[in-house]
Amino acid sequence: MPKNLKSIALLFLCLLLTGCGIQEESLTFFAMDTVMSVTLYDAPEGMTADLQAKVQQLEKLLSVTDPESEIHQLNRDGRAELSPMTAEVLADGLALCAATDGALDITIYPAMLAWGFTTDTCHVPTDAERTALVGQIDHTKVKLSDDTASLPQGMMVDLGAVAKGCTADKLTDMLREAEVSSALLDLGGNIQAIGDNPDGRPWNVAVQAPDGEGYLGVLAVSDRAVVTSGGYERNFEQDGITYHHILDPKTAKPADSGLQSVTIVGSSGVICDAFSTALYVMGPEKAIEFWRSRSDFECILLTDAGTLLVTEGLKDTFTPHIDGMTIVERG
Ligand code: ADP
Ligand code: MG
Repeated sequence: MPKNLKSIALLFLCLLLTGCGIQEESLTFFAMDTVMSVTLYDAPEGMTADLQAKVQQLEKLLSVTDPESEIHQLNRDGRAELSPMTAEVLADGLALCAATDGALDITIYPAMLAWGFTTDTCHVPTDAERTALVGQIDHTKVKLSDDTASLPQGMMVDLGAVAKGCTADKLTDMLREAEVSSALLDLGGNIQAIGDNPDGRPWNVAVQAPDGEGYLGVLAVSDRAVVTSGGYERNFEQDGITYHHILDPKTAKPADSGLQSVTIVGSSGVICDAFSTALYVMGPEKAIEFWRSRSDFECILLTDAGTLLVTEGLKDTFTPHIDGMTIVERG
């Protein structure tokens, strides 16, 4: 065989071996009001369907709009017996509200309803309505004991800021149990990178730009959750003003704290999910102060002025695609 033909044959064989060695299975589906996709390498056959079933099971328990969900029952009756899974998510959510000093508040739902964010018809509540709503937001009033939850009259919970993160953690547990060492989950912008990519290198995760065009940059991560929140994700316009779906519990108005987007990187999906929403409410100064007080996450903040603040733990793994990056030291 001529030499160049031999090397082509060898290359082909290598490709074939690599191709045969690693099985890829992926699935895209709609759940929790968003498009989700899971891609698994060398996983037990049919595991993508098991993950989808788990997402659907959690959605059935946690959905705020499904009249059969446990959360809906709690909001309707002010009291409900919760399954262990729902109780766990509610307990996690309440702990994270306390940790963020109420920037995250899962009793935000009456305000979400008043703005119409869970329906097709959004509108701006009056100042008087908002003042009344602020009085109805207080996560410390939610009682949870022995899987029974109760709420004061008029109060309602919404796990929208943490549900996808909790779900990502549950799927990650399933994959670890099945000894899957390479997988990528995208639960509507909540990314969970399991292990390395099939080449044995960290996953490259693009951080979306708020204008929807291009990326703020790319993160190289292994075994990490990457979660982004921003006002650009869900909003409506009235009289030339854009109103978005992340509310400041202190005002019951869309948070206007000086940030366009927040990306959190950490090992826990629920922490990253909760903190992406909470830091967006806090604004840049408080968010950095909060980051300095903890050691369980790193973050990328895009300010209204277009400055990219990147905490020092990401300086070797984040490659910006825009100008104006500032590395924030722990100090
Ligand atoms: P998304 O779900 O769009 O990815 P987030 O994780 O930031 O974005 O969650 C936003 C959702 O969380 C809202 O749709 C609403 O259900 C709820 N929410 C909005 N503001 C708050 C808040 N301050 N604290 C807790 N939950 C909130
Ligand atoms: Mg969130």
